Amino acid sequence: MKLIMLGAPGAGKGSQAKVLSEKFSIPHISTGDIFRANIKNGTALGVKAKEYMDKGQLVPDELVCDLVVDRIAQADCKNGFILDGFPRTIPQAEALTKALAEKNLKMDYAIDLEVADEVIVKRMAGRRACLDCGMTYHIENMPPKVEGICDKCGSKLVLREDDKPETVLNRLAIYHEQTAPLIDYYTKEGILVSFDGTKAPAEVLKDILARIGE
Ligand code: AMP
Repeated sequence: MKLIMLGAPGAGKGSQAKVLSEKFSIPHISTGDIFRANIKNGTALGVKAKEYMDKGQLVPDELVCDLVVDRIAQADCKNGFILDGFPRTIPQAEALTKALAEKNLKMDYAIDLEVADEVIVKRMAGRRACLDCGMTYHIENMPPKVEGICDKCGSKLVLREDDKPETVLNRLAIYHEQTAPLIDYYTKEGILVSFDGTKAPAEVLKDILARIGE
């Protein structure tokens, strides 16, 4: 199963992708997590990406596309994978389609989670992230067992720089301008499936599984 998670930042892509990844035993590939790991490790890619990420801007396509194309060529992706946060622009989608077509492959579904902007801004302000393992929580809807501490790895949880309200508004504007056109792109490819992302996460998951098969 080869899946793309689409939707605005904070629509629930990461949370759903984590569960789907376990359910189908396929790797969850989050470009945001890859960049954050690079920032943490002080790599050259991390230094470049941080400049854009902190401002809520997209990292340039040329820094993202090869990274993803290389990642999905790895052995653990042979039965499929879930892309979370990629593609985010039409040139990225075209690069992905081309890389797969060279191997006679196609994505199976682009899962679009629909959530209105006002809901997103509220959600993001309450989001807390573990920068060590990538888990995300919400102070009201999905709190960790111990306040401020990651359930999975015990690290400290933070409000990500790019989840602060002023940056979120900028990210939403960029989403509408650069990423939302992918809804048309994947509708034309015949693989778009849309869901109400404002429902409780377990309900959204049920809707997704009912549509894409278990
Ligand atoms: P995310 O965790 O997916 O919300 O990503 C956090 C940030 O990483 C984004 O706001 C972008 O700055 C950057 N990023 C992640 N994925 C991409 C991508 N496919 N293209 C460009 N920038 C990206």
